[in-house]
Amino acid sequence: MAITVDEFIEDLKKRYGVFTRRDPFEVLIFTVLSQRTKDANSYKASEQLFSRYNTPEEIADAPLKEIEKLIKPAGFYRVKANRIKEIARVISKTGMPTDLGDLLRLPGVGRKTANCVLVYGYGEPAIPVDIHVHRISNRLGFVHTRTPEETERELMKIIPKDKWILVNSLLVRFGQEICGARPKCWMCPLIDRCPYPDKKLK
Ligand code: SF4
Repeated sequence: MAITVDEFIEDLKKRYGVFTRRDPFEVLIFTVLSQRTKDANSYKASEQLFSRYNTPEEIADAPLKEIEKLIKPAGFYRVKANRIKEIARVISKTGMPTDLGDLLRLPGVGRKTANCVLVYGYGEPAIPVDIHVHRISNRLGFVHTRTPEETERELMKIIPKDKWILVNSLLVRFGQEICGARPKCWMCPLIDRCPYPDKKLK
C-alpha cells in the first residue's frame, strides 16, 4: 500500500530531526542567495556577506561592487547583489515584514522565498515548495500537479497545519540524499510503498 503523507513526514522526522530557526532577515537573504545554486555555495556567500554587513541598513548603504564580491560563491552574483541591496533598502525604511502579503511585496520575492521566511525565520506554518518538495510529492502520489504553486495549495489541503512547518526541511533533505533528479530508488527505504513508475534500481 502506498505510504500516506502523514506516515512519510513522521518517518522523515525520525530520520532527520527538526530544523532550528534563524533571524528572519538572514533567512530572506539566504533564500535569495540559494536560488539556482547548491546549499554549500549559498552558506559561504551568506557567511561572507553577514560577516561584513549585519543589518538591512548596512547592506542598503554598502557599495554594490562589495556585495557582489562577498556573495560571488552563490553564482549569478550581479543579479543577486542588486536584488539583495534593493530588498535591504526597502526593509531599512519599512521594517522587516512579518506576514506573507508584505513579504510578497518585497522586490523579487516570490512565494517560496516568502514561505521560507515564515517557516525558518518566524516559525509560522507555511509550505515553501521548491523542486524537491514538488517532485517528491508527485512521485509519491500525494499530489498530481504541474507547478509549485499548485503543489503548495494541494499539500496545504492534505497535511495538517501543525505539520506544514516540517515539510520543506524534511523533503529537501530526502531529495538531496535519496529522491533527487535521478532517484536512488535502490537505497530508498520507501521503495515498496512508492507508486512512482520509473524507479531507478541501479
Ligand atoms: S522509491 Fe525512488 S522515486 Fe520513490 S521515493 Fe524512493 S527514491 Fe523517490
